[in-house]
Amino acid sequence: SKPSYRWRRVLLKVSGEALAGDQAQNIDPKITMAIAREVAAVTRLGIEVAIVVGGGNIFRGSSWAGSSGLDRSSADYIGMLATVMNAIFLQATMESIGIPTRVQTAFRMSEVAEPYIRRRAVRHLEKGRVVIFAAGTGNPFFTTDTAAALRCAEINAEVVLKATNVDGVYDDNPRHNPDARLQDNLTYHDVIAKELSVMDLTAITLCQENNIPVVVFNLNKPGNIAKAIKGERVGTLIGD
Ligand code: UDP
Repeated sequence: SKPSYRWRRVLLKVSGEALAGDQAQNIDPKITMAIAREVAAVTRLGIEVAIVVGGGNIFRGSSWAGSSGLDRSSADYIGMLATVMNAIFLQATMESIGIPTRVQTAFRMSEVAEPYIRRRAVRHLEKGRVVIFAAGTGNPFFTTDTAAALRCAEINAEVVLKATNVDGVYDDNPRHNPDARLQDNLTYHDVIAKELSVMDLTAITLCQENNIPVVVFNLNKPGNIAKAIKGERVGTLIGD
């Protein structure tokens, strides 16, 4: 009989920073290839994978807004366009190793990618295709973490897997406090009350309201992405 895994459909969030690695360039192709290989392995097991990509490796709206008269909305639209660049790079990498992949953007760029259509995204997943959601929520003043929580709820994925450059969530900032300890489990309440920097409040609240567990894990450790997708113990699990 077919082995069963903890999750049937997952939403993997890959931040822009994670894609950059320690490269001077914006994207490290070794990292996109590592993501592609691990995602390939789990889709072969029948687990459905949707991905939300960030754009912080190229442009982060909040840090540009205000400079040279750039208003926040314009800055954020540039940030959303940055996520599309990452999405197309990741799609090309996945398809180079034979994973059928579709990019759907939150605002129309029809020559480049499909527009976001929930039912169509779900259909792609059911057919074993990977769907990459780009351009965040399509709205300024939001983040791609919020887009991850939103898309996860919309497509009935069971978990947000947040791939980062750290091992998980600590009870204090490990950069300032050498005694800070990595947490295996946290509640939404812990994250919100202690202001642990996991995701912004809009994103974590959306997860809490929809009972979406969040796993925060290190994507730089080989095997971790596949482990997280298969529901094996990795990083920090946030839930009730
Ligand atoms: N952004 C936005 N609305 C969204 C998602 C993203 O305006 O729904 C913009 C925002 O300027 C953000 C940038 O896109 O700074 C890149 O996304 P984010 O910072 O979330 O990427 P990450 O931190 O994951 O690399």
